[in-house]
Amino acid sequence: MASTGASSEKTSVQVALRIRPLTEEDVRTLPPRFQRQVLSTPPQAPNQVIVSGEKKQSYNFDHVFNQETSQSEIFEKAVLKLIDKFIEGYNVTILAYGQTSSGKTYTMGTSDSSKIPADQKGIVPRAMRSLFDIINSPQYKSRKFQIKVSFIEIYNEDLIDLLGEGEGPQVTIREDSKGHILWSGLQEIKVNSADEVMGHLSRGSSNRQVGATDMNQKSSRSHAIFSVTMIQHKFMSNTGGGSRSMTPEIPELKSGIRPPSRSSSRLSNKRSDDGSGEWTSVTSKFHFVDLAGSERLKKTGTVGDRVKEGISINSGLLALGNVISALGDISKAKQITHIPYRDSKLTRLLQDSLGGNAQTLMIACVSGAEYNLDETVNTLKYANRAR
Ligand code: ADP
Ligand code: MG
Repeated sequence: MASTGASSEKTSVQVALRIRPLTEEDVRTLPPRFQRQVLSTPPQAPNQVIVSGEKKQSYNFDHVFNQETSQSEIFEKAVLKLIDKFIEGYNVTILAYGQTSSGKTYTMGTSDSSKIPADQKGIVPRAMRSLFDIINSPQYKSRKFQIKVSFIEIYNEDLIDLLGEGEGPQVTIREDSKGHILWSGLQEIKVNSADEVMGHLSRGSSNRQVGATDMNQKSSRSHAIFSVTMIQHKFMSNTGGGSRSMTPEIPELKSGIRPPSRSSSRLSNKRSDDGSGEWTSVTSKFHFVDLAGSERLKKTGTVGDRVKEGISINSGLLALGNVISALGDISKAKQITHIPYRDSKLTRLLQDSLGGNAQTLMIACVSGAEYNLDETVNTLKYANRAR
């Protein structure tokens, strides 16, 4: 039996596999033999998945979540520690990869609404509740937090601001001399609670471009990136004591803060106006990426515009696969390899949040049903390159 993939605990890219159960629609529409489950997870090897068939294959991942795994378990096992990293100042990226209707949006929770029962909420709403609970806890009383959200869609290599109103400015990507990626021309909206974040998320996702194809009515042909930028300010008094009854004003706040640049997680210092100490600020970014469907063009049976879309969607997914696999090579060979970030808008936008000091989690979503076997194997192979 061929087995690929080894532990990547040391690298900053972690890969999880999530196998979705049959949906009501599958049960209604697929003949029983196509409903048969072709993936199994051996109890003695919880990070392994076995593909049944003539040629048995097995793949290993950092996590394997099977048909029974709940939304809360995925959050606790794979996401919670990334929130700690984000608060420590690291950039974090979570990507959901897989064919249309494999469970990307369900897992990520990117089209959240009040109609979704609490136990079915995906990663974004859980992460936002948890983030605000943590920063509002007594432990962080001495820090000040500023949080902004933005929501961007990549469609045919065009960038669309999902939180923009009407015809906004062109969204562009630049890189500064320090390698920080700067996004400009898009709305970044200040938020003070998880509920506010969720309001913007659902407004943005209803603006998302969707195209109906034979394969799935709601098939999404674009990548969507929901981003949370956090600046945290911490006052360090000159006397070292830190326990002053009054903390002076943050200098930038008094004069109206500059919009945070889209740079990689970074530190900056500024003396307080009364000279009694120094404000240290740390900026970090959390990206939640709901990728376009990974299925092959031929299966969707589309023509014209759809074909063009398919080609550029694949260029984003192709570049992402190449970037992530090059990152894996670096950690194995411990040498500098060329990382092809510039090959697509997707990888360019995420350049300072994939690899390096950033923490990346890719969740490969698959259906366990015989009907989807070919695409499931493609997804397993793609996700495996990331390790
Ligand atoms: P994608 O975003 O990859 O196209 P969706 O997230 O929309 O796929 O999922 C397709 C359908 O499957 C939806 O009806 C969704 O509610 C359901 N689904 C996906 N994953 C699960 C799961 N783990 N448990 C129950 N239902 C799921
Ligand atoms: Mg979706």
